[in-house]
Amino acid sequence: MKKVNIFWHRRDLRLEDNAGLFHALKSGLPVVSVFIFDTEILSKLKNKTDLRVQFIHQELLNIKQQMNQMGSDLLVFYGQPIEVWNKLLAKFEIQEVFTNKDYETYAIERDQNVKTLLAQHQISFNTYKDQCIFEYSEILKDDGKPYTVYTPYSKKWKAKLNEFYLKPYPTEHYFDSFLKMEPEQMINLESIGFKTSNFVYPNKNSTSSVIKNYEKNRDFPSIEGTSRLSLHFRFGTISVREKAKKALVTSEKWLNELIWREFYMQILYHFPYVSNSAFKPEYNKIQWDNNDNHFKAWCDGKTGYPIVDAGMRELNKTGFMHNRVRMIVASFLCKHLLIDWKWGEAYFAEKLLDFDLASNNGGWQWAAGSGVDAAPYFRIFNPQLQTEKFDKELKYIKKWVPEFGTSLYPKPIIEHTFARNRCLAVYKDALSK
Ligand code: FAD
Repeated sequence: MKKVNIFWHRRDLRLEDNAGLFHALKSGLPVVSVFIFDTEILSKLKNKTDLRVQFIHQELLNIKQQMNQMGSDLLVFYGQPIEVWNKLLAKFEIQEVFTNKDYETYAIERDQNVKTLLAQHQISFNTYKDQCIFEYSEILKDDGKPYTVYTPYSKKWKAKLNEFYLKPYPTEHYFDSFLKMEPEQMINLESIGFKTSNFVYPNKNSTSSVIKNYEKNRDFPSIEGTSRLSLHFRFGTISVREKAKKALVTSEKWLNELIWREFYMQILYHFPYVSNSAFKPEYNKIQWDNNDNHFKAWCDGKTGYPIVDAGMRELNKTGFMHNRVRMIVASFLCKHLLIDWKWGEAYFAEKLLDFDLASNNGGWQWAAGSGVDAAPYFRIFNPQLQTEKFDKELKYIKKWVPEFGTSLYPKPIIEHTFARNRCLAVYKDALSK
């Protein structure tokens, strides 16, 4: 049996500037790289044309081809992680395993189980920070507690930042360390129960001018004024160090967004209960209306509020929604329709290509008022005023709701003033208990 070290790709689907891979390649033994299509995760996806699975597959193929050119290969498995690791243990004499940290609750548990299995074979499980600039306990308040307010968190984040944290990991100098092997056939999507489509994903390269003009354009959904990199951050097809470096010299406003991402990551890590409950527990007492017909109209983009409908139709069609519109549709669901934010969170989780538990949960709890540093409950977005401010010429609305202004467009499912007053009363009641 070959004596090797193993590198396990998860949310880091790239070879360049990859912390864990760098350490694996420098470890002194030939390196075998693996990826596992985890049945625990895939079995929960209802839509068999899920574009995220296709994206992962496409990026793995890309890595595989690069590795084949180096005379090596990426081994792609389908199964439960523990079963796959047992197979790897039977196939190779493994000395050490390297991987990048994943901070979500399920991933932490999975990694603990794999670590325990490997330890039984005297194999170390070495994990590295790669997904963020600062992880869980690197940015804490002076009293050692986690931040729950963004602005002081971001100040400390910026104060701590220096060249060291942005230094790339030059993996390319060590590619010779990949174990030489004959390429294996890549698993096809159909064989794991998914279908292929010709969807075109946002490009990860052409964003310089967008970032330069970010502050000016970011709030207008009809303009391509944001980077559209969220999918790439989610799956690690880009390096956050490289992007943060770019942000530092191009746009502080954009850097602030990268910090929001890490702020929510550390919230989920320190307060894992937020994944199924309000950060502020008193918000669990809200008496939601949870009207199924209203929820369906919201999902389908047929509420009769054009900015909300445009957003939902953009999401349904493309798996993306502009941030300003995410805030509007989320507020509308929780406050106008009085539907539990968890319903909206789950719908977004199913549809968003960039779905990320920490940011999605953070965004929803922000909109519902129940989260860290959230919008106060009495701040209720008025969809009409939001439209006047951010889609004055109705370009975004007309793009996604072509029948707007005709008799085919539905009447509002709820009246604004009624909804606003009802929301204030219901929230007030819950919060005074
Ligand atoms: P840009 O504006 O170019 O920002 C650059 C990057 O910064 C983004 O790619 C993203 O990684 C990060 N970022 C930007 N804004 C935020 C933010 N408010 N919170 C956290 N990170 C941010 N973002 C996700 O990545 N996944 C989600 O599941 C998600 N769900 C959301 C749900 C709601 C209700 C709301 C209000 C926001 C949500 N966001 C989520 C945050 C934000 O809307 C998206 O990150 C952003 O729209 C992605 O577009 P972009 O890549 O063009 O972002």
